[in-house]
Amino acid sequence: MFVCDIGSIEVVRPYKRVVFIQAALRDTVRTSTLEPDMTASAEKFTRQTLLDVQPLTPNLFSLRVTRDSGFRFRAGQFARLGVTKADGSVVWRAYSMVSAPHDEYLDFFSIVVPGGEFTSELSRLGEGDSLLIDRQAFGFLTLDRFIGGRDLWLLATGTGIAPFMSILQDFEAWERFDSIKLVYSVREAKELAYVKEIAELEQRDYLAEHAGKLQFIPIVTREQHPGALNARITTLIENGELEKAAGLALSPEHSRVMLCGNPEMIDETRKVLKARDLQLSLSKRPGQVAVENYW
Ligand SMILES: Cc1cc2nc3c(=O)[nH]c(=O)nc-3n(C[C@H](O)[C@H](O)[C@H](O)COP(=O)(O)OP(=O)(O)OC[C@H]3O[C@@H](n4cnc5c(N)ncnc54)[C@H](O)[C@@H]3O)c2cc1C
Repeated sequence: MFVCDIGSIEVVRPYKRVVFIQAALRDTVRTSTLEPDMTASAEKFTRQTLLDVQPLTPNLFSLRVTRDSGFRFRAGQFARLGVTKADGSVVWRAYSMVSAPHDEYLDFFSIVVPGGEFTSELSRLGEGDSLLIDRQAFGFLTLDRFIGGRDLWLLATGTGIAPFMSILQDFEAWERFDSIKLVYSVREAKELAYVKEIAELEQRDYLAEHAGKLQFIPIVTREQHPGALNARITTLIENGELEKAAGLALSPEHSRVMLCGNPEMIDETRKVLKARDLQLSLSKRPGQVAVENYW
């Protein structure tokens, strides 16, 4: 029921979909009616174990979790994660997978929102603790949203880098596109996550034949950082600096653009792209732009 609703709303009214997902994911489910593990196995979710937690900054961390053998997803999709609060209730939130669909574990990248209901709990967890994961993956920030295209642009703010790491660790993007531009905007340089992993992607055996396709374009907005651009994504598109840095023009014919993260950035960037004739991709009318708002 949940999936169908998302699908139909997403196709017809993409903005409404975000509101719907967030409302659905915010539902707090009482666990008091659940028996321990045996009942959980018959539920919509599985109980997984935290294998590793790595802080990046006091407010950002990555986590690795065991993966149920039945959990399938496409690169770019998100999982529904649940944490149990002290009063026994469970809080659910959407989290994009960072890891690739072929990995044996699941990686996630999280912010800690001060006072945030979910992240306050999540950030308290450590190795060996359990996390609930819905059996089903969700989301439409996937490459099958696009027809054709030559250049893939992945534009992220903050934790919005997560689905793009999954897409980049999968084979499809590399095979389908001649060039991939990963544009990743953060406020301070210390918030740039996965920089080493990004640099090493093209050295992976299964991607070696596509080496040279990826260009990483970091943006740091609140300080000067060597090698990074220093303005908002929208400004950089409007003044031509992003295309200059990429050595490539944005065009409806060749560009396919994914946006993920801050809803304000997504909204404004969509308008700027629309002015360049790059349209949101819908089922009935495939276009050049796909988006995932994080709140
Ligand atoms: C499809 C989807 C995928 C998502 N994937 C991720 C992910 O991979 N990593 C992740 O950290 N979050 C992700 N989120 C956001 C996540 O679901 C929660 O909102 C977040 O964990 C905060 O939960 P909370 O209960 O602590 O605070 P909430 O009550 O949910 O949020 C409080 C406020 O914090 C801010 N906020 C929420 N999330 C973020 C964020 N990611 N970055 C900056 N500010 C934020 C917003 O202003 C929001 O109004 C995703 C959301 C959606 C809809």
